[in-house]
Amino acid sequence: MNLKSWGLYPKIKSKVFPLINKTQLSKLLSSNKEFIPYGNGKSYGDSALNENIIHTKKYNFFLNFNEGTGLLHVQSGVTLDEVIEVFLPRGWFIKITPGTKLITVGGAISADIHGKNHHIDGCFSQSVEEFTLMLGNGEIKTIKKNDELFYATCGGMGLTGVILDAKIYLKKVNSKYINQTTIKTKNLKHTFEVFEKYQDLPYSVAWIDCLSRDIGKAIVMVGDFRDDNNLDYKKDKNLNIPFMFPTFVLNKFSVKLFNYLYYKKAPKRIEEKKVSIDSFFYPLDKINNWNRIYGKNGFTQYQFILPKESSFQGLQEILSKIASSGKGSFLAVLKLYGKENKNYLSFPIAGYSLALDFKIEKGVFELLDTLDEIVLKHGGRMYLAKDARMSKETLHKSYPKIKEFLNIRKKYNLTDKFNSLQSKRLDI
Ligand SMILES: Cc1cc2nc3c(=O)[nH]c(=O)nc-3n(C[C@H](O)[C@H](O)[C@H](O)COP(=O)(O)OP(=O)(O)OC[C@H]3O[C@@H](n4cnc5c(N)ncnc54)[C@H](O)[C@@H]3O)c2cc1C
Repeated sequence: MNLKSWGLYPKIKSKVFPLINKTQLSKLLSSNKEFIPYGNGKSYGDSALNENIIHTKKYNFFLNFNEGTGLLHVQSGVTLDEVIEVFLPRGWFIKITPGTKLITVGGAISADIHGKNHHIDGCFSQSVEEFTLMLGNGEIKTIKKNDELFYATCGGMGLTGVILDAKIYLKKVNSKYINQTTIKTKNLKHTFEVFEKYQDLPYSVAWIDCLSRDIGKAIVMVGDFRDDNNLDYKKDKNLNIPFMFPTFVLNKFSVKLFNYLYYKKAPKRIEEKKVSIDSFFYPLDKINNWNRIYGKNGFTQYQFILPKESSFQGLQEILSKIASSGKGSFLAVLKLYGKENKNYLSFPIAGYSLALDFKIEKGVFELLDTLDEIVLKHGGRMYLAKDARMSKETLHKSYPKIKEFLNIRKKYNLTDKFNSLQSKRLDI
């Protein structure tokens, strides 16, 4: 089968083995093949790709829920979408959610995903009480916070075994709506000022026009849940991109025009309004298969983070490089991050991160290699859940706990059993 990740790059033919139950999985792992778990394929690069794939999405029963504490026990193939549909009407929401709800709980733990509230609430692992993990020899371990296998698995991109089920805390809410404030900024300095000003609010994000001459001009959106006892949640209706766009459709001019119009459309004055959780957290989920607009060669998302002290300088340099290259994407997403956690390969550190999409075309990888150097110079790193092309030298220089991670892979004999295209490229 031709399984893909969200970026549609790279491509590989894989044998797909659905996860059915523990006995079947342990039997599968006893073969002499190597595998990588696959959730819902919403990582952009090659972290869930290999010749043999363990597909977990049908392993998706809800197992238990404690109304008193909000502790939910689910199998790893349950998606955040499914959790929201069942639990939002009962007044519960995901504590840490990314910009799509179409991911599995296994994928959320493995990438240790973060959301618009990282500066306050941290990563997904911080809402995890425990999970069970099947190692390469079929042994099932219950992994709790502070275990070395917890630190290695959260953010470990499926390289420590198959997560079977997990207990995660949900957050009590009293509305299906968010009070959203929108602020239009003039440049990067102004954008940073707005982030700092609203940093006590739980959610914040900015859309930057990365092709503009006014470096860092953005639309910043901040918000929090309303308290209006309106929990009658129904998913918003979606549009669909029914076919792959020809590769020429997205070019410097069409992207520039889109960004210009998007910025122009935003209100001049600070605007406050009530929006649905789907509009606030998941605007991109409204268009099914939006990745097809990049054409058949696909695209790569470049997401890096810089420490707070070098964020301003580093972002100025990177945004100028991108603007002058004429490549680069629709609006880029800028977020503020809080303290880093103890997981060996979790991406966030206290600072700012930018994520932007690049169509796979001539010259793009050379540009991204240059950007890597700027990121490294400023003490930053790239996000493994988005990566399809960084070099092993870059990874090893930018993740200081890589040795601890590799030791765990060795200690539990995981290196021959769990591998992805990414792990081979990066030598991890
Ligand atoms: C539109 C969009 C917006 C996004 N926004 C954000 C964001 O704001 N923040 C953020 O952090 N991420 C974001 N992401 C990335 C996404 O949240 C992560 O890549 C996530 O890991 C995808 O989960 P998945 O279930 O699709 O897993 P996959 O993509 O299938 O797999 C991702 C990794 O998890 C491993 N894995 C999956 N299931 C298991 C399991 N049961 N056991 C062990 N390993 C497993 C895989 O081996 C792989 O390494 C976004 C993605 C999209 C498409």
